[in-house]
Amino acid sequence: MLKKELEIFTFADLLEHFPNRHIDKTKVSRIRDIGPHTDFIQVAGTLINYEMIGAGRGKRLVAQLKDASGVLELAWFQGIGWVTRNLHVGSDYLVFGKTGFFNGRPQIVHPEIEVYVPANADGKSFLEPVYPSTEKLKARALNGRQIGKLTQALLSQVQPKDIKENLPQAILGSLQLMNRYEAYQHIHFPASNELYERAMKRLKFEELFIAQVRMNLVRLQRHKVSRGVVFAKVGELFNTLYSAYLPFELTGAQKRVLKEIRTDTARGHQMNRLLQGDVGSGKTIVALLSMLLAADNGYQSCLMAPTEILSQQHFTGLSELLKEMPVEIALLTGSTKTRERKRILKGLLDDTIHMVVGTHAVIEEVVQFKNLGLVIVDEQHRFGVAQRARLWEKATIPPHVLVMTATPIPRTLAMTAYGDLDYSVMDELPPGRKPITTVHRNETARAKVMDFVRSEIDKGRQAYFIYPLIEESEKMSYEDLMQGYEQVKCFFPEPKFSISMVHGRQPSVQKETNMQRFVKGDTQIMVSTTVIEVGVNVPNASVMVIESSEKFGLSQLHQLRGRVGRGSEQSFCILLTGLSASKEARERIKIMCATNDGFVIAEKDLEIRGPGDIEGTRQSGALNFKIASIVHDKELLELARNEAEKLVEEDVELGMAKNSPLKIFLQGQGRKNGWGKIS
Ligand code: ADP
Ligand code: MG
Repeated sequence: MLKKELEIFTFADLLEHFPNRHIDKTKVSRIRDIGPHTDFIQVAGTLINYEMIGAGRGKRLVAQLKDASGVLELAWFQGIGWVTRNLHVGSDYLVFGKTGFFNGRPQIVHPEIEVYVPANADGKSFLEPVYPSTEKLKARALNGRQIGKLTQALLSQVQPKDIKENLPQAILGSLQLMNRYEAYQHIHFPASNELYERAMKRLKFEELFIAQVRMNLVRLQRHKVSRGVVFAKVGELFNTLYSAYLPFELTGAQKRVLKEIRTDTARGHQMNRLLQGDVGSGKTIVALLSMLLAADNGYQSCLMAPTEILSQQHFTGLSELLKEMPVEIALLTGSTKTRERKRILKGLLDDTIHMVVGTHAVIEEVVQFKNLGLVIVDEQHRFGVAQRARLWEKATIPPHVLVMTATPIPRTLAMTAYGDLDYSVMDELPPGRKPITTVHRNETARAKVMDFVRSEIDKGRQAYFIYPLIEESEKMSYEDLMQGYEQVKCFFPEPKFSISMVHGRQPSVQKETNMQRFVKGDTQIMVSTTVIEVGVNVPNASVMVIESSEKFGLSQLHQLRGRVGRGSEQSFCILLTGLSASKEARERIKIMCATNDGFVIAEKDLEIRGPGDIEGTRQSGALNFKIASIVHDKELLELARNEAEKLVEEDVELGMAKNSPLKIFLQGQGRKNGWGKIS
């Protein structure tokens, strides 16, 4: 039963089934004080009566508990046999549970109940643990308190040698952490609140630290053990572009990241770096300069983008910057014509083509390089791990990898979910950008919104109208979009306005054509679902209207909004909502109106939704913490990260005597969970 419901298989599992809170047995409330807003409550009283009521599914056992102030009703729908066997009219009980009202009377359904022993009379601690349980277990009388009894029995048997310390003494000392054995005692049965807090801190730290040690081992073993091509020098090509053709000064963040990349690629070990930069922070130029660094050292490079449009844009932009330089760059996508394709394949094989930009076509098996040294993946969340792995087959020494993403993720999440990668952040936008003005409007203000869009278009700008894509109902989304399109057409009937529409049901050729017309400025309005390409750059588009914006998540709204604000003009984002938007949706919209900073938005997103829902992290086992939380324990996580980094840096083999308890622990854990080797 315990096994199936709570996945508790061993004694160790039971000890790691931590209480979710403690109750103070001295805090007993009066029944009379139960009000409509009372949540969980503990009362003590005499059982004065019980009887079966109702029939069929509504059949239940109802009991009355009386204290000096009033009467409380207790009800059971399941486990009735146990209750009638064990509870006796006339005895005193301590009852705990969530209160509700039924027929105007206060009631607790499936309370936790035990024989009442006045506080301290039995010499037990004041704080009693309450464990997560399930309805099924409760029905079998294995409620939180019963689990506590099992745990207590177990704890009284275990010796310090059974719960061995796994953290190095130096860390315990410098951070003043409780030892492991004591922590297990006090997390379950604390002698005081203070000891409980210290036990929590110790166990949270341990959990975060162990995870960070694992991640850092992977990262540093790659640094120290893996082979990588060496970009020894910054040469002619890099310097020429930098000094002669770069149309602007690099931002501080861009310079810093380039320096990190140069250090990484000069060491002789493979680089695996995640570059996070907010929309518009200028990642493309960092990519280009890195590719030139490869070329300066005689290596080829490739830049992969998730879509044809984006590949095309990158290719056009980079070719323009490179046009006076002795570098051959090619574009390879699914729609590259056979002859051109042949030329490119040959060029990559004999190194007459130095750089290739493209979609996943670039990693098809037929594409072979002479000496691929660097792979850059733009907007990584659309590329699968398996796809990336195929790149490894393209060279004898694995190429350096730079993954760029414009979906900011909070630092804590990055550290836990991507802690095995090196990690750079570009948290600075190029100077001179005007922050996008974001406003929230109700559906009722639509006519005014349309007037505003018209006035912007009259000034020569372009506008996006974005409709939500409802995953469960593609058909409904499609109908919404069509209606929206008709509506936009009604508001802009004159022939001088032309409208592009892009959606997921179009054949890709048509999608591309419609997109291109907007990119070139042949159309003024783009009506689209969220298929609108991430990363698309139309600097002249200065207005975005997001329809039914309450249906979008925060990071998605931020991504979409990033399509405007790319030129020198003031840009606007208008979030339309129906009148029925939920409180949470309104909260999201408020945040969007308040800030343009993707990292702030990502933090809020994490707070609102929790880590499990953030894109790309769902499958990440790294986030299955038992006791720590990357939302609430940020400082502890930083601390754990620093300590883990220091330790692994000093002793990547974990061969030092002081680290041997840790090594033994990790090996044991590895066996248990079938994790990879920690040699
Ligand atoms: P993203 O990081 O979203 O991929 P891009 O690389 O597309 O951003 O850059 C956005 C725009 O900013 C481009 O038009 C680019 O030319 C411009 N840009 C990039 N770096 C700078 C800079 N240091 N100063 C001024 N403009 C820059
Ligand atoms: Mg980009």
